Amino acid sequence: MNTIKNAQVAIVTGASRGIGAAVAQRLAKDGFAVAVNYASSSTEADALVAELTAAGTKAIAVKADVSKADDVRRMFETTEQQLGKVDALINNAGVLKTVPLADTSDALYDQTFDINVRGTFNTLREAAARMNNGGRIVNFSSTTLALNMPGYAIYNGTKAAVEAFTHVFAKELRGRNITVNAVAPGPIATSLFLDGKTEEQIQTFAKMPPLQRLGQPDDIASVVSFLAGPDAGWVNGQILRANGGVA
Ligand code: NAP
Repeated sequence: MNTIKNAQVAIVTGASRGIGAAVAQRLAKDGFAVAVNYASSSTEADALVAELTAAGTKAIAVKADVSKADDVRRMFETTEQQLGKVDALINNAGVLKTVPLADTSDALYDQTFDINVRGTFNTLREAAARMNNGGRIVNFSSTTLALNMPGYAIYNGTKAAVEAFTHVFAKELRGRNITVNAVAPGPIATSLFLDGKTEEQIQTFAKMPPLQRLGQPDDIASVVSFLAGPDAGWVNGQILRANGGVA
């Protein structure tokens, strides 16, 4: 077994599956010790941690609903105790249900804003007090914000808020040498995108970018790796639209 000593610590929210799992795998390869956060998919999170640990990475699974401030506080505490102070926070956890605004229930509105916006707010607020100077924060927006497609009003509203947080928080951390950026993926083949769509709808999305395919989780993990790594030290307060050129 490889015995890498992980010098830097990353929290990846929503890392049990989809893009978050690919980000956790990539940051582990980059040399981070990784806290794999999840809300309910414990089997997947545990399996990912076992895989990372077997490859020599220090990794833990941390159950926390990011929409709950107490859970987020505990997630940072657990990570600090078991891995060390946090150097990279990847705010990947998010949900999407496309419904016309007029048909959106109060419950769906609350759930989407609670997880996508309050979840990001909770982790950013905690990070301000607890992250190491010189750290990296990567938030998650979406290219749908630029496409203005029917059905995306509530989701896009949450991602607009995340972009606003990104720009302002980058400035509020002046003097800490912490960068705050966001990645805005185009369609990526995960359950968030695929569930509930017909094959025809999926193909329509796949043909939209000039690169003529759906993105894969690794396409986004490599962007996060860049933003979380040493080469992006001068990139701050930016939204990186990684979408094959769709918008
Ligand atoms: P996904 O496959 O549905 O995975 C979502 C992840 O978020 C899961 O690990 C899930 O864990 C976690 N999660 C959900 N609610 C949570 C909560 N309250 N607290 C903590 N974790 C929670 O989604 P994805 O496609 O990878 O999306 C990841 C991010 O990329 C999201 O922010 C999404 O908006 C953004 N994005 C995705 C696409 C796309 O096409 N896929 C495009 C643009 C932007 P549990 O299963 O444990 O709940």
